[in-house]
Amino acid sequence: MAVPKRKKSRARTRHRKAQWMRTAAPTVGTCSRCSSPIRPHTVCGVCGFYAGRQVVEVED
Ligand SMILES: [Zn+2]
Repeated sequence: MAVPKRKKSRARTRHRKAQWMRTAAPTVGTCSRCSSPIRPHTVCGVCGFYAGRQVVEVED
C-alpha cells in the first residue's frame, strides 16, 4: 500500500524487513523411487514418478 515516505519511520521499515528471514523454508520431500528432493504434490523431475506410479516418461 502506498504510504508517504515521511510517515514510515526507519524503525518500522527495518522491523518489517527483519521479519523477512523469519519466513519458513520451502517444504522439501523426497521421491519414493529415486529419493531425490522434490516439492510435495509434484511429479519427480528425475524419474517422473508421482503417487507411487510412473506418470511422466523421462528420457535419459
Ligand atoms: Zn524420482
